[in-house]
Amino acid sequence: MRNPFEGVKLPPDAEAFIDSVAKRLPRLGGTSIKDRELRRLALYRDSLEVYEAFVRSVPSIDDLHPFYRTSLEIVAGDLNKVKVCLASLSRGVRLARRVLKQYMAQIRASEEEEANKLMRAGFGRASGILRKRKECVKFLRDVFAQMKKLMAVDPELPTIIIAGPPNVGKSTLVSRISSAKPEVASYPFTTKEIHVGHIDTERGKVQVIDTPGILDRPMSERNPIEFRAINAIKNLNGIVVFLFDASQGALYSAREQIDLFEEVSSIKRTLPALNKIDWVDEGLREEIASYLKGKGMRFLEISAEKGVGVEELKGEALKELFQQNVGEEKA
Ligand code: GDP
Repeated sequence: MRNPFEGVKLPPDAEAFIDSVAKRLPRLGGTSIKDRELRRLALYRDSLEVYEAFVRSVPSIDDLHPFYRTSLEIVAGDLNKVKVCLASLSRGVRLARRVLKQYMAQIRASEEEEANKLMRAGFGRASGILRKRKECVKFLRDVFAQMKKLMAVDPELPTIIIAGPPNVGKSTLVSRISSAKPEVASYPFTTKEIHVGHIDTERGKVQVIDTPGILDRPMSERNPIEFRAINAIKNLNGIVVFLFDASQGALYSAREQIDLFEEVSSIKRTLPALNKIDWVDEGLREEIASYLKGKGMRFLEISAEKGVGVEELKGEALKELFQQNVGEEKA
């Protein structure tokens, strides 16, 4: 699925639009003053099409995939405001068209010397209608400019989501298990860049993403945007591979990492693995391993950087993912 916002035609800022129409008016001539003034208002009327094209190009918000709807909600802050502004802009453009039509009828019926005054009045009224909506136009322009940039994550592909504490090796693992160089995507959930890779399997394409700044901190430290981000992640069709940092350079203690793992695994099906096994801290390894064994969980020890255990982890993750998908298809 492509980004549904890719085709949105961004609307010009209201003031810039009015200015650009005003600048084009003096260049228009005509066979008479009335003819010239009529052409001027007709130019204004036809230029309104950019706003109509914008409104038409916006996908239906209620029909969006939940992943994209949540993204839009995070970017906009309020989905209802998006709907209200879109409706207000549509109404405004219709109204401006009607006003211009009325002034054009008046010009046709007027004396030559009245025509310019009427054109100015029509121009002013239509511009007033647009100016009233300039905050909405600016808001919509900003929101959709950001939404257009959200490429690369396809919410319909089966997805392996790599989670774990900061610096554990998430993006290293994404590149290790992807068929080609991962792309970089920016998401409203996080100020950090998300890496998006793909694995070609016999059963089709699988997506691999990391989640920097999202699933890497205790819940208590999270802000509302992060909560919504977690919701968006929940809506992806996928499983999580949670990396524990068992190295001498680990930034989090075993307990902190275990707490994080428990939170993440309550959101989605999660496979644990210990990374940086080439630089292991025996104390950390022991503590994390005994926790996982106590829970009866299987786990792999890997080195994403050195490529140790990575193929096995990839195999396990794909197996889980497809099992889950088969389960969902049956359900
Ligand atoms: P992220 O923040 O979780 O995405 O972590 P990165 O993938 O950016 O990796 C953080 C640092 O850990 C980088 O310097 C990597 O080279 C290093 N790193 C990743 N995997 C391993 C590993 O298996 N062993 C060791 N020793 N270093 C690793």
